Amino acid sequence: MVFSPLKTVKFVAIALAAAVFELALHRALAYGPSQDGRMLFGFALILASRLEARSAKLVFALALGAIAFSVVGMEYGRLTPDFIGALMETNAEESKEFLSMINPLDILFACLLCALLAFALFAWRGQASALPSSGLRKYLRAFGFWTAIALLWIGSNPARLYSDAVLGYIEYRANLEAAQAIARGGAWSLSAGADKNDIRVVVIGESARKDYMSAYGYPLNTTPFLLNANGIFIDGFTTSAGYTIKSLSTILIKNENGVFDYGRNAVSLANAAGYETFWLSTQTYTDFKHIIARLSFQAAHSNFFRPRSLDFLSDDFNLIAELDEAIALDTGDKPKLIFMHIMGSHPQSCKRLTKSDPRSFNLIYGEDHNCYLATIEKLDRFISAATKRLEAADINWSLLYFSDHGLGHSGDLGDIKMRHNEEIRQSYEVPLFALGSGFNERVIIKRRLNASRFIDLFAAWIGARGEGLDWRYSLSDFPQDSDLAASGGKLGDLRDDPALY
Ligand SMILES: [Zn+2]
Repeated sequence: MVFSPLKTVKFVAIALAAAVFELALHRALAYGPSQDGRMLFGFALILASRLEARSAKLVFALALGAIAFSVVGMEYGRLTPDFIGALMETNAEESKEFLSMINPLDILFACLLCALLAFALFAWRGQASALPSSGLRKYLRAFGFWTAIALLWIGSNPARLYSDAVLGYIEYRANLEAAQAIARGGAWSLSAGADKNDIRVVVIGESARKDYMSAYGYPLNTTPFLLNANGIFIDGFTTSAGYTIKSLSTILIKNENGVFDYGRNAVSLANAAGYETFWLSTQTYTDFKHIIARLSFQAAHSNFFRPRSLDFLSDDFNLIAELDEAIALDTGDKPKLIFMHIMGSHPQSCKRLTKSDPRSFNLIYGEDHNCYLATIEKLDRFISAATKRLEAADINWSLLYFSDHGLGHSGDLGDIKMRHNEEIRQSYEVPLFALGSGFNERVIIKRRLNASRFIDLFAAWIGARGEGLDWRYSLSDFPQDSDLAASGGKLGDLRDDPALY
C-alpha cells in the first residue's frame, strides 16, 4: 500500500472529524462512557472512505442523524420513549416549548459538526472513484465492514442512540395499545371503600431526587416546610424507570412481575371505592404521555385536555386555584380524591421557575443545578400551599406525594445539567410521603418499597379493600421488598451519582 501525501492528509482529516464528532456526541447525549465504543463511530467514518458507495452513504446518514439529535440531547439527555412520543404527536404549543428549549450555541456546535462531516464526505468523494463499483469484491468489502461494525459497535454511544430510537418507538406503540386497555376501565371488586367527608390529594412529582431534599437528609435546607411537617416519610421507595411513562405506569397501574392489568389502576380504584375523582395537571395536554392522558380521562373531572397557555403550564402554582375549585365543588356525600400531576423539577429546571420564584441557592455547579435546587424548594412551597388550602376546608384530609424518577448530573463540574439518566442509582430513589390532619408526629420509615407495590399501599390509604389487593401494604407498615427494581437489574449494582453541595 502506497501512502501519497494527499491521501494521508485526507485520512488525518477524516480521523479528526470523526474524533471530534464522537467526543461531542458522547457529551451531547448524556450517555455514560461506553468503554469500547467511544471512538468506533470515528473508525466507521474513516473506513467509510474505503467503502463501496451505498455503505458509505449509510454511515454518513447515520452520522447526520446523530448530529441532529445532539442538538436536542444537549438539553434533554438520553433518547427515551417519552421523547419519541413527543416527537410523534407534538402540537403547536409543545413545539414552541420544544424550540425554546434549544440553546442556540448547541445549534452552532451542531453546524460545526456538520461542517466537519461535510469535509469528511468531501474527502470520501475524492476516493470514491477508486472504489470497486461491482463484483464480489464490493460485496465482500461491505459484508466485512458491517460485520466488524456490528461486533465493535455494541455499547457505543451512536449505536445506543439508534437502538434507543428503535426500542423507544416499539415501546411507544405498545403504550398506545395499553392506553386503549385503560380506556376500557377495570373491574375492581371491593369489600370496603371511602369514608365520607374526606379529601385526599395525590401529588405526582416530576424528576425530584430524594437526596436533594433536606427532609431526606440533603445538607442545604431545600425543603424547610417538609423538614418539620408531621406525617410519614418513606425512605426506600424505588421507582422502576428513569423516565415518566414507564415509571408512572408501574406506580399507578396494577402489575405483577412485569404483567400489567391496565384497567386496574389508581384512578379506577378510587372511582370504584366511591370517590369523586379529579385530575389536575401542568403537564402538557394533547399529550404524548398516552397512558397518563388516559388515566386522567378516567377521572370524573380532568383539566388535562382543556387548552391551557404555556404560561399556565410553566408554573405549578396555577394548580392551587384549581385545587380550590375542586375543594369547593359540591359532590354531596361523596369524598374527593384529587390527583395533581406537576412539572416539578423537569429538565430545563430554570423554565419551571417564574420571575417571582426565589432562587435561594448559588452553588458552584452552574445555573441549571441551582435552578434544580430552587425547583425542589418550589415543590416544598407548593406542598405547603396545598396543605394550607386543605386545612382551611376543615374536614379530614391527607396528601400523598411521590416523584416519578430522579435525574443524573451530566456535563462539566462548573456547568452541571440535570438530565434523565437510567444508569445511576439515584434516578430510582425517589421520595414518598404522606401528610394530613390525622398525623401528629413525624415518622420516617427506612425500608425498600418497590414501585409495583404502590397500588396496594394506595388502596390501603384510600380505605379500599378487596380482591387482588395485598393487605400487607399500608403507609405505616409494609414488608421489605427485594432489590430488583431498576429495569431488570439490581439497584445496588448501578453507578452512584451522589447529590452535590
Ligand atoms: Zn418524569
